[in-house]
Amino acid sequence: MAKTNETCTFCGRSGKDVGMLINGAECAICDICTARAYEIIAERTSATKKSPFRLNTQLPKPEDIKAFLDQYVIGQDEAKRYLSVAVYNHYKRIMQKETSDDVEIEKSNIILVGATGTGKTLLARTIAKFLQVPFAIVDATVLTEAGYVGEDIESILTRLLQTADYNVDAAQKGIVFIDEIDKIARKSDNPSITRDVSGEGVQQGLLKLLEGSIVSVPPQGGRKHPEQKLITIDTKNILFICGGAFDGIEKKITQRLNMRVVGYVAKNGICQLDRSNLLKYITHTDLKSYGLIPEIIGRLPILSFLTPLDRTALRNILTEPKNSIIKQYVKLFEMDGIKLSFDEDVYDYIVDKALEFRLGARGLRSIVETVMIDAMYTMPSEKTDEFRVTLGYAKDKFERTDTARLQIA
Ligand code: ADP
Repeated sequence: MAKTNETCTFCGRSGKDVGMLINGAECAICDICTARAYEIIAERTSATKKSPFRLNTQLPKPEDIKAFLDQYVIGQDEAKRYLSVAVYNHYKRIMQKETSDDVEIEKSNIILVGATGTGKTLLARTIAKFLQVPFAIVDATVLTEAGYVGEDIESILTRLLQTADYNVDAAQKGIVFIDEIDKIARKSDNPSITRDVSGEGVQQGLLKLLEGSIVSVPPQGGRKHPEQKLITIDTKNILFICGGAFDGIEKKITQRLNMRVVGYVAKNGICQLDRSNLLKYITHTDLKSYGLIPEIIGRLPILSFLTPLDRTALRNILTEPKNSIIKQYVKLFEMDGIKLSFDEDVYDYIVDKALEFRLGARGLRSIVETVMIDAMYTMPSEKTDEFRVTLGYAKDKFERTDTARLQIA
């Protein structure tokens, strides 16, 4: 009979000093050594794991990128074209072979301006999905200068490293989406009066990442401390896509345009402004007037805008994208053997409610959820194989809900 070991064969600790001792045929291992062994395996495999990076083999052309975006994102053609070209050029730059000429392609990070819920994050996320590169989303509002309450700028890279499963090489070619970049605009024209911890200071910190530098990153996040092992990340090839609503920037745009109209543009007859969508005239000058520092603006050379979503766009968002909200519900019911269908006028009703409660695209899901919740609760245990949602049913369910509970995801 195999003897029971009283101590860990690896570290020699007695069974009394550890949480658990697992006995094998001729040896034993304690819980501490098991955890350490697991860590060693995880570190080794992540270091040697081949990057799933699709770009190793092929670089999709801008038209291919846009065609993929079209499957998931409704409208926003202008932003899609700008993004597709910028992403293509960015990865061409990474793959550029050392040549004898001195033409060095500079990094072109991107800034997308558009109201909240119009698809900025979705665009960035979809591109990353297409390219199969690590992708992280960070909210600029939580970032503060080092030493203040909030997250250090480096936390952005921790996030990316984590999504890359600690594969440094893959992370260094990933995409970071920095949301709400407008919230770190300089609050006043004279930043020296009070310290602007979450404004200009953060912009200065971000600048370092955007322009490409070597940064020491705490792998588990949190503040850096002396005993912590840091991982070095070079941000030279990380693509940064910034997004922001820039509420009120239309005022800056009109101010600038009026000046030009009075000046020389009127002569050329280009003074017919589309006042319903002034964002289409946005330039880097407007971002500067809004409070972004010129150095940051210089590092975000690709600027594009997103248009507000109208009724048709919202209607299409419900059903058209490859993983549209409605397709997701149909799939959920299908998994219970129920064929789910919606009458056409239900879609119009859902869009009407999203517009009425000013919920935009984000609200569509919570409205559908409100309509479907009862059916999703009862039907899996009933013997139903078909369920048709009519306008009457949708109205009945929606009107019974406390609309204050409609949440925007
Ligand atoms: P933003 O980043 O501009 O605030 P998001 O990209 O996070 O907005 O959009 C929120 C949600 O609304 C998305 O997850 C998606 O379900 C939906 N959505 C918004 N705009 C679009 C669009 N143009 N096409 C398809 N779905 C959209």
